[in-house]
Order: sequence, then structure tokens, then C-alpha cells
Amino acid sequence: MGEQETACLDAADAQTALTVRLTEVFLSLQGETSRTGLPTVFVRLAGCPLRCRWCDTPYSFQGGETVALPELLARVAGYGVPTVCVTGGEPLAQKNCLALLHALADKGHSVSLETSGALDVSGVDPRVSRIVDIKPPASGEAARNRWENLAHLTAHDEIKFVLADRADYEWARDLLIERALPAICPVLFSPVQGELPPAQLAEWILADRLPVRMQVQLHKVLWGNTPGK
Ligand code: SF4
Repeated sequence: MGEQETACLDAADAQTALTVRLTEVFLSLQGETSRTGLPTVFVRLAGCPLRCRWCDTPYSFQGGETVALPELLARVAGYGVPTVCVTGGEPLAQKNCLALLHALADKGHSVSLETSGALDVSGVDPRVSRIVDIKPPASGEAARNRWENLAHLTAHDEIKFVLADRADYEWARDLLIERALPAICPVLFSPVQGELPPAQLAEWILADRLPVRMQVQLHKVLWGNTPGK
């Protein structure tokens, strides 16, 4: 056996030994970000150290199935869709998330990662598009924002604000300007469903001529809060 084959087997063995705690894998349409509308395989990892007041995935906080990476990669491949989104919970709270992202990119998938913005994103494979939340005051988790992350973002990434009220909007708007966020990467503004009417947020953005992309969650328009959609 040649050195290269031995190295390949070693890498495969190492991957088999790695596991993640998984809430669910499912096929849906991407409901957010600039990939909105694309058929996407979602890999939802379990666990999150945050407790955003309006969190819509509390079912991912506990439990989950322990799955080895090769099995998870095979499940993803089974959907026959190139676009994959790793989400949570907070996927980066699991140390093997970085290996999972790397392996998905190695398989040729177009990968995005949805993360709370509270954990270090610098170790994420550069082929992965990082969708980084900045938590505004009404989330109850603004103190967790890891500002050092901003220095690691590139045009390939996206920054996302989920806004509950006018105070959240003004906080995000001021931050956008002070930190010149649109010069780093695309910036997304979303309303908290059931709290801030989307048309109201749209009016504020237009009045201030903000260079952001407003989004509503397409999957909720289509399917409500059904898990696995
Ligand atoms: S970071 Fe995401 S998963 Fe965690 S509590 Fe906040 S909204 Fe929920």
C-alpha cells in the first residue's frame, strides 16, 4: 500500500471515530440568507448555550442522536442535493462541528453554517459560508455577542440581525453604521415572527435607506412552525 493510500485510510478511520449529536436531517427550501429558495439539506445539531427569548428551535436544546460523521455524510448525500446548511441549536458548541463542515465541503457540497455569533468562527473551513447572528437587546443575549468574530468575516459570509421592536432596529442600524458592516459582507435584517410586522421593518429600512437585505422566513410562510421544514 502506498503512502497516499495509507493517509486516506487514516483520514477515514479518524472520521469514523468522530461523532456529533444530531437533532434532525431534512430536505427543505432554504428560508433565509441569500440562498433563500434553494432546495437545501439541513443538518441540525443539538445543543445551544444561549436562550434567545424568541428562539424557534428550543426542541434542539436537549437530546439528539449520536451519529458518526461517515453515516451523517451518507444521509446527506442520499438527498441528492448539493446545497447543505448546518444549523442548530448552536452547531459550533460541538467540537466536531468543524470536522463535519470540512468533510461536507470535501464532498463537494455548497455549505453554509448558521451560528449564534457567540462562539469563535475563525476555525471554520473557508469554503463554508458563515451566517453569523448579532443578537440585539430584545433577544436577551446581546451580552454574548463575540465582537472578535467580525475581524474574521469575508464577503463570502453574511451577518444577520433578528429584530423584535424599534429599539432593536435602532440598535442594529447604529451598529451597522459605526462598524461599517456592509463593507464586510451582506447584512440581513429579519423581523421576529409574531412580534414585529414585516411591513413595519420594511418601512424603517426604506426610510433610512439602509444597505441591508430584508428577509422573512420563507419556510414559515410556506409551512408555519412545522419542525423538519
Ligand atoms: S442561538 Fe439560536 S438556537 Fe440558540 S437560543 Fe438563540 S435562536 Fe435558539
